Amino acid sequence: MENNASKFQPRPYAAVIFAGFLLLVFVWGIWQAGQKKQPAVNPSGMVKKTQSSQPVATSTPVVANADAGKLLAPISKAQERVTKKPFGLKVSPHSSPVSPERFSGYHTGVDFETFADEQDAEVPVFAVCDGTLVEKRFASGYGGVAVQSCRLDNQDITVVYGHLKLVSVSAKAGSTLTAGEQLGVLGKGYSSETDGERKHLHLGIHIGKAVNLAGYVKTPAELSSWLNILKYLK
Ligand SMILES: [Zn+2]
Repeated sequence: MENNASKFQPRPYAAVIFAGFLLLVFVWGIWQAGQKKQPAVNPSGMVKKTQSSQPVATSTPVVANADAGKLLAPISKAQERVTKKPFGLKVSPHSSPVSPERFSGYHTGVDFETFADEQDAEVPVFAVCDGTLVEKRFASGYGGVAVQSCRLDNQDITVVYGHLKLVSVSAKAGSTLTAGEQLGVLGKGYSSETDGERKHLHLGIHIGKAVNLAGYVKTPAELSSWLNILKYLK
């Protein structure tokens, strides 16, 4: 009987192993509970993607300027020529990159300057878009000016080409100009052709069909009805 009784007495090392097993089960249970507290679904309801060793693109490629490429340059080396009056610049007779300055306000267009060797040369000006020539005439502040009606981004615009030699504009009002077609040449500096201004092209783009020859506006807010051609060049 004593021998049988001793058979049922757990041996000390077996008890240790059993306790160890219980501890493992206990720890495993806690670990499982911890896992369940982190649902595999994010707040948006999407199943989380498992981590991958593959690199994941964090953003889609961004086009530098979504509007670029919709208008042609009105003059050769256009970008190089914008050295004095960019779009929106505030000028006054007391503060201006040109001297003397007779205008005040925020520049509605972009001024394309002429190079030193172009002062006595013909400098061609090209239509920036397809559209009708709606006006060509002398206007105070411009000398010769031409206005073209075009479409841009599904809206009407008028393009103001200022300081032209008016007799060089052979197209008649009402005729259609094709983008890239020569419109005329720049007026001679400090003459009636530029209304006394230096030889340069002022190019303004006004939103809408109405002709607006304003070269400057009084408030920055008014600039919102004008567009910067440099954003649209190819
Ligand atoms: Zn200007």
